[in-house]
Amino acid sequence: MKIALGCFIQESHSFSPVAGSWLHFGPGQLAAGPEMIRQVAGARSELAGALAVAGQAGAEIAPLMSAVASASSGPVQHAVFAALRDELLDRLRAAGPLDGLCMVLHGAMAAEGHEDATAEVLAGLHAEIGSATPLVATLDLHANTTAQMVAQATALVGYHTAPHVDQYETGQRAMSLLLAALAGRVRPVTALRRLPMILPAENGRTTEGPFSEVMAQVKALTKKPDILDASAFSVQPWLDVWDVGCSVVVIADGDRGLAEREADRLADAFWQRRHDFAVQLTPTRDAIRRTLASSHGPFVLADVADAPSSGAPGDSTIVLEALLECRPERDCLLNIVDAGAVASMAAAGPGKDVTLQVGGRIAGVYNPVQVSGRVRLIADGDFVNKGPGNRGALIHRGLTAVLQIGHIFLVVMERPVIQWDPELYRSVGLEPADAQIVVVKSPAAFRAAYGPLATEILLLDAPGICSPDLRSFPFVHVRRPLYPLDDIRDWRSALGRDAGALR
Ligand SMILES: [Zn+2]
Repeated sequence: MKIALGCFIQESHSFSPVAGSWLHFGPGQLAAGPEMIRQVAGARSELAGALAVAGQAGAEIAPLMSAVASASSGPVQHAVFAALRDELLDRLRAAGPLDGLCMVLHGAMAAEGHEDATAEVLAGLHAEIGSATPLVATLDLHANTTAQMVAQATALVGYHTAPHVDQYETGQRAMSLLLAALAGRVRPVTALRRLPMILPAENGRTTEGPFSEVMAQVKALTKKPDILDASAFSVQPWLDVWDVGCSVVVIADGDRGLAEREADRLADAFWQRRHDFAVQLTPTRDAIRRTLASSHGPFVLADVADAPSSGAPGDSTIVLEALLECRPERDCLLNIVDAGAVASMAAAGPGKDVTLQVGGRIAGVYNPVQVSGRVRLIADGDFVNKGPGNRGALIHRGLTAVLQIGHIFLVVMERPVIQWDPELYRSVGLEPADAQIVVVKSPAAFRAAYGPLATEILLLDAPGICSPDLRSFPFVHVRRPLYPLDDIRDWRSALGRDAGALR
């Protein structure tokens, strides 16, 4: 029994000024063949979970390739997308006859010329292996799971957690389902419901709030007889493509009617809770003044609008400006992307005092800020996630500097990276638990690792391309009506004549 295994992950943000490029798929983000297997050793990733299940079943694994973007960005440049897709297909062909294919995907990837790039990848893989060979893929909970994607796979399984901490388990679910399908023990049939809504991620957590109730229903569903798997997707909301929306997927064992009925119920439960996803934000200066005045700490301030995990360039100067104004007397940690500033500080060297401009150059939303401080450290910037989300993943942020400006410790890095883990600071000698303020650029996933050490978490109201105020974005391509851009009562009638095609 021979199963091919591959991974192609990118999350696209239509309003990002930075296209997905080779910068995001640079050194450390690509691996092929045996190197791909070596990279996942000890990690809690989808690939590691899938490998564990395959190993227990005695299956031979044909490792194809792993391409994981270092952060979200705009749609992937055509040439980059085509090169990665073609290499994946070439490696699949070279792997020879296969009994199955397991893919790790994100599900909200767009590319120039391909609004639904995930479906494009799946279609290529499906055409190569044929319909008789099962193909099971994993998806992020923020996937834009379309009918075209469902049509190209035997089954699609999504994370059950936000903050995302079940990557390993999702990989296990995918490989288990694949093994059962190829052995003929089950016959997966999928029902998809698309919902005409997009939601901010801040309250889309499975630990509390409205989405935890939806996910409780998903979990209960997976325990029912003849249900093989179920997922609910709260979608990456800044996708300005026609077919965008939250969705649910129910996979039954041969019983299409059952899958359709349960998907309808789950979709209704999700839709009914849409108003509960509204986000409470705190004005940035109020948050900083209040937390600096407190005798408790640390306070974790989430600059959600500049989250690289959602597609922002990570170069906002809003929080930095506010902190400089307040001249804190206790340690405050924050970070910013600015390759030029890092290069200047590396040229000056550790221990040197410098005056330079940082940030505000990429997003087109902010202005650079002049700072004077001491270069405390220059590092290659690599760190390993040690918290529950994607534990073991090696993160490459490029050359990194720590600039001390009084009690402000500014981590300046070459590249934006996902900020789920305090190792972003610890790896350069800064301890979040000892700080008064720790700034994290992430809407929700940071809570898994930062929650236990935070006295309080505040979500900042600051400008940026990942603001949860979805009505403030210039959507032009999405199908209308779409909640919350439009007020909709009945999701079925809102989809109108598209409802049938979307199912
Ligand atoms: Zn996600």
